[in-house]
Amino acid sequence: MMFALARLTAALFLAAMGSALAQDPGTVEDKTLPPLEHPNSPSTPAKELFGRKSTPDPAAARAIGFYSRGCLAGAVALPINGATWQVMRLSRNRNWGHPKLVAFLERLADKAKKVGWNGLLVGDMSQPRGGPMLTGHTSHQIGLDADIWLTPMPDRKLSREEREFMSATMAVREDRRDVDPNVWTHAHTQLIRVAAEDPAVERIFVNAAIKKALCREAGSDRAWLAKVRPWRGHDYHFHVRIFCPPDSPQCEAQPPPESGEGCGHDLDPWFTEAMLRPPPPSTEPAKPKPGLTMANLPPACRQVLVAP
Ligand SMILES: [Zn+2]
Repeated sequence: MMFALARLTAALFLAAMGSALAQDPGTVEDKTLPPLEHPNSPSTPAKELFGRKSTPDPAAARAIGFYSRGCLAGAVALPINGATWQVMRLSRNRNWGHPKLVAFLERLADKAKKVGWNGLLVGDMSQPRGGPMLTGHTSHQIGLDADIWLTPMPDRKLSREEREFMSATMAVREDRRDVDPNVWTHAHTQLIRVAAEDPAVERIFVNAAIKKALCREAGSDRAWLAKVRPWRGHDYHFHVRIFCPPDSPQCEAQPPPESGEGCGHDLDPWFTEAMLRPPPPSTEPAKPKPGLTMANLPPACRQVLVAP
């Protein structure tokens, strides 16, 4: 138990360090990156290469590799405006995904509206060719992950500036032990429930305090709770992951979640003092993480990267 908890804590610190938060502002400046001096060097981080691709690989759609180690061919963009959704942080150019992810989001936006959520504000999906990112996220690499803000869409079209600078809403109470009753509504629960009930959805990550609230509010229909799992962060947004699509034989499935709905005492390890109040970050300069290189990704990702 101690070992498992220590391992969980360590994994969470690492995950938190690399997260691009829904509340991180974007920019309206031109973000074109300078070309790399040695793009073909084997030590060049793959994020430097995939982070410079602004268009998808025009091949047939294929998710390649694992959610945190792979790339994406044939990506399509979620349109930045729909009847029941809007895309945020356009400067990141991360509204790309496997067509199944885009179809899921359009479906969810419609269902959410019907259960009282006014429409989706969609955060990061994937880069045009997937792959590791220069900022944030260890996953989101194969076009099957999407972040959705815990803020309902306003009744008007947001401006470019609002999409870059508006903050998502913190849904967790200040003591981190429950949701903020001034923010959390029944529609939040309904939104996550309809997302989890979609057969395409493999898993949803939410803050542990949010999971606790969902457990409390689920009522007698609780099967969907098994897909909703706690993870640090995810207090301004939730993260939806869909299953490997049938057109993607090189997509690597995630092991199924632990059995059971994961409520009650299953959540205890998330609410210890150590978990709620992690020590302040070390003052020593962090060692730069080497990051994945092309050799760490599936070989098919080389073709995705060099495609016209
Ligand atoms: Zn995410």
